[in-house]
Amino acid sequence: MLIQLLYLTILPSVLGHGKKVTLGGLFPDNPEEDLMQKTFELSINAVNKMRHTSEELSHVYFEPESMVVTDDIYGTSQSVCLLVEKGIAAIFGPQDEVTSVYVQSMCDTMDVPYIVGHWNTDLSRMKAINFYPHFEAMSMFFLQLVTEFKWESFTILYDSSSGLVRMKKLLQKWDPKGYPVTIRYLGEGPDYRATLKRVKYSGDHNIVLECTHEILEEVLTQSLQVGLLSDRHKIIITSMDLQMLDLNPFQHSGVNITGVRLVDPEDPDSIEIFDNYLYELGLEDLSKMHTEWALIFDAVQLFARAFKPFKEAVKVNVRSLACDGYDTWEHGASLANFIRNIEMKGLTGLIKFDTNGFRSDFKLDIVRLGNEGLKTIGTWNSTNSIEWFPDPPPPIDGDEDLANKTFIVLISLLDPFNMLTESSTMKTGNDRYEGFTIDIIHELSKLLHFNYTFVEQTDKNTGKYNPVTGKWNGMIGKIIDKTASFNNYKKTFIKVIFNYQEADLAITDLTITSDREKVIDFTHPFMHLGISILYKKPSKAAPSLFQFLAPLSNEVWVYLLAAHILATLLLYFIARINPNEWSNPYPCIEEPEALENQFSLTNSFWFCIGSFLQQGSDCAPIGTSTRMLATTWYFFCMIMTSSYTANLAAFLTVETIIRPIKSAEDLANWNGVIKYGAKRDGATYNFFKNYATLKGSNYSTYAKMFKYMEDNAKDVLTDSNDEGAERVLKENYAFLMESSSIEYLAQRQCNLSQVGGLLDNKGFGIAMRKHFPYRNKLNTAVLHLQESGVLSELKKKWWNEKRGGGRCREDSGGTSAAAELSLDHVGGVFLVLVVGVGISCLYTIWEMMWVIGCTSYKEGIPFKEALTTELQFIIRCRGSTRRARRRKSSSNSTSKSEKDDSPPYGFVPAVITIAHEEDQT
Ligand code: GLU
Repeated sequence: MLIQLLYLTILPSVLGHGKKVTLGGLFPDNPEEDLMQKTFELSINAVNKMRHTSEELSHVYFEPESMVVTDDIYGTSQSVCLLVEKGIAAIFGPQDEVTSVYVQSMCDTMDVPYIVGHWNTDLSRMKAINFYPHFEAMSMFFLQLVTEFKWESFTILYDSSSGLVRMKKLLQKWDPKGYPVTIRYLGEGPDYRATLKRVKYSGDHNIVLECTHEILEEVLTQSLQVGLLSDRHKIIITSMDLQMLDLNPFQHSGVNITGVRLVDPEDPDSIEIFDNYLYELGLEDLSKMHTEWALIFDAVQLFARAFKPFKEAVKVNVRSLACDGYDTWEHGASLANFIRNIEMKGLTGLIKFDTNGFRSDFKLDIVRLGNEGLKTIGTWNSTNSIEWFPDPPPPIDGDEDLANKTFIVLISLLDPFNMLTESSTMKTGNDRYEGFTIDIIHELSKLLHFNYTFVEQTDKNTGKYNPVTGKWNGMIGKIIDKTASFNNYKKTFIKVIFNYQEADLAITDLTITSDREKVIDFTHPFMHLGISILYKKPSKAAPSLFQFLAPLSNEVWVYLLAAHILATLLLYFIARINPNEWSNPYPCIEEPEALENQFSLTNSFWFCIGSFLQQGSDCAPIGTSTRMLATTWYFFCMIMTSSYTANLAAFLTVETIIRPIKSAEDLANWNGVIKYGAKRDGATYNFFKNYATLKGSNYSTYAKMFKYMEDNAKDVLTDSNDEGAERVLKENYAFLMESSSIEYLAQRQCNLSQVGGLLDNKGFGIAMRKHFPYRNKLNTAVLHLQESGVLSELKKKWWNEKRGGGRCREDSGGTSAAAELSLDHVGGVFLVLVVGVGISCLYTIWEMMWVIGCTSYKEGIPFKEALTTELQFIIRCRGSTRRARRRKSSSNSTSKSEKDDSPPYGFVPAVITIAHEEDQT
């Protein structure tokens, strides 16, 4: 009877007879964990549905008994007691580490299998079955990842000390002599910005972020805000729930985020399970499933599969246990062993336990956040090492998208490129700066949708190469790698102590040079310029005593004198040749003895000068050739006199400017009478240096100038353009400077001006490190700004309008409006003169030949003889009177000598000529 009663009482709960087994679940009281509880119950439902169809399952019906627990230990222990009193086969959860430890100890005491699926470091008691990968394995994985990434230093950001346990092996990597590992506590939250900024300013770009998924999104958002998510940073996120976040805000930041996941949302088996049994959770897809929910789902599934062989092996019941006694479930340990010995594939991959009861042979997906979201780039198996998937084809060099990226833009204060904002209110962030290049960055960011943060190069050093260390300093150095000259340990030390700041882009009056182009990249130039000389504006000269000479250049004066002499001589000779110019001095004597030529040498001179001075003379040419010559000369004189008069008027009204130097050659030749220099180690100084070092350069002026600057470096080189401009104003000093800066200064400081033209041609560009992935996009945008006129508008705004622009516009030139006339101006008049004179000469010769020809024919004298006689007479140049030729009838009575000396002209009046004294020779 007693046996019968006992049988009936126990019957419902005896395994294999009463087919109902209760599974206890403890879940914290928060809405997120609701889904966890629901997953637990859905998993039991799934088992129940399959129990008659699946060979892996027993026919037992599992019933969930879920309880909500808080972090109150007493309340939790009450819940555990209630569960064990009801008679349960195992307890699942809770996820909270503290309560979980307590539940675990109660289950250990009563030998009830305790199953968890969360991160736990306290595994001293082996009866708990944890589906979460063991921390040693995770620690090994992170070590391998960092090693694969070849990180030379990194910072671990953590939110709880227990999380650091997972970093155990990474921490062991720290080596005081060369492998710096920095550990930073994120803080209590919810504001983690202070710590994040510290990491950013430390300059360490490699970060391991170890925090719970609850704060992960907030930490990432704040990191983005402080500029820690830039394309220079590489972050490993240890949480397996990265995929649950909305990653859209971060995926375009350029940051290299690597994550890890246990649940593969693309696995077809997992998708099938999700679609069949978990759709009631209301999640979008499997990627939105929390890893711990997946683990609890798998835990129930595995438990149910382990229960079948257990039930077959141990035909005993689950019984009620009293919490307050020493009551234990004698089969609990063996059920736990069955669970540890079974294998299955679940949502979290292969579920298998090693001899120590830890999950083994599990696989982790390594994911990378890119523009298209998370992408699996490799896998890690706890038995093997990392296996990387083949790389997708890399983007075209320099052609990556900049949208939503954040860049650190390095600037140095220089008017009008980058200046502090003039404002009555306190400005912060990027608003602190304004200027030409600040506007350019703003315009580029509007075009390309990137974000930027300005940082200042306080020493204004654009960058100098040190041939000893092989390193660049200044802005160029920051673009390359600021701590490149130090070993890793010192690097981190320097980064932390000196708050060293690297930059993605640099913009100021940064000149594109070939030396710089070797180590960094530049965009297309956004401004073109050249080296010129900044000097005091030329002063006005007092009127000179010989101001009247100024309208014509010395050269023209000399040519004028020469023309005058030539014209005088030609007139004299042409007049002697031309028979018409020999006239009867006494018209009342019909046949004069002598003929006279009015164009003696003195008269010719007087005629020329009289016409030049527009006073005329008593001489009037008679012959065609002399008239021709006179006409040309008159024309020449008229043009020259009018030009002179007009230019003299200009010279008398405009004051003359004194220019001590007109070009770089003057500076070089004067050998330091006027001191000159440039900005130390700037592009201008290097321009001269290159000339000096250029082998075989035969252009010695610039080499000479460099030598002077080098020899007097301390005295003549300056640290900034402002210092140079100040010296120009105060001393007898010329500053070699870039024309754009000279133009800006000359608009505002009316005592300064540019001297001479440009010594070279170059441009300012935006600097970036070599092979910067966004170079092409930036180049295109710069060209677009140029073509759309934005750059010239900005130039006008900052050069001519803002901050006193155009002040010196009225008086800007400082140059004289009157310029002396050079040969270039009046050369044409001289040419006309030469042509006119030439024609007149030719005509004279022709005329002479004709007349001599006629005479020799008429008088029977050989032509040659007549010509020789005439030429002799002309060349002899004796006086301006000659014997007139007699008529033919009386010619016989003339003496021989008379005959010899008479000109052979047939038309000479037929007078009896008395030989003149001088003609008788
Ligand atoms: N723009 C120059 C540079 O990039 C600085 C000024 C100069 O050398 O005149 O170094």
